[in-house]
Amino acid sequence: MKLGVISDIHSNLPALKEVLADLAEEEVGGYLVLGDIVGYGPYPNECIEILQELPNAAIIVGNHDWAVIELEDISQFNEEARQACLWTKSRLTPETIDYLGSLEYIIHNNQYMLVHGSPRDPLDEYLVNVERFEKSIPFLKADICFIGHSHLPLYFTKQKETGNLEMRAIQEQETVTLTSEFIHIINPGAVGQPRDRDPRASYGIFDTQDLKFILKRKTYDIAAVQVEMTKQNLPQALIDRLSEGI
Ligand code: ZN
Repeated sequence: MKLGVISDIHSNLPALKEVLADLAEEEVGGYLVLGDIVGYGPYPNECIEILQELPNAAIIVGNHDWAVIELEDISQFNEEARQACLWTKSRLTPETIDYLGSLEYIIHNNQYMLVHGSPRDPLDEYLVNVERFEKSIPFLKADICFIGHSHLPLYFTKQKETGNLEMRAIQEQETVTLTSEFIHIINPGAVGQPRDRDPRASYGIFDTQDLKFILKRKTYDIAAVQVEMTKQNLPQALIDRLSEGI
């Protein structure tokens, strides 16, 4: 079965819609959603409601989702993230608050594991180097793990026989084969706020039979989101960064 792998939507409805339209065209049979559904962008309730309708979706929370329902301390957030969090909190409905509170922060089965940050620190750690990858390996519940949080499409491998550890960026349309000789951790990048200097939405497709992952990018109407963010008085730095992909 093909599964859409999406993370860090951050209340960006136009980006989410484009990505889901493409995944429907690719005829995926389900979805893996890696947290940070809300925070930063102007459409928190709409994004949650779309996810609630997705068939066969495994969905975990991220640190921003917990922050808006006060399960995560926002004193560590930078000023813009904090402002966006407070704005989001003021907009959520009782139903969408309940929904965020109902989500798990780790999901795993015998094939794959889902966490927002890292296996070692599921909500908050940025898995962005080989040292942190190594420290997370004892916490893995499966040989394939999907993460989000850094908003960077990254691929980590450990060769089981030699113990060799590697990390690299994954490129658009690149397919990686998730063979059993390796441990694999994949970050599909961010749907709603990419940070690899490519402003297009980033996501992937995991084929659970062929054990392949392909990274995809999709353009969306960034200007429309920026107009809405301005209307809602969200921080200018958050508006600007969308078109820069930073
Ligand atoms: Zn995020």
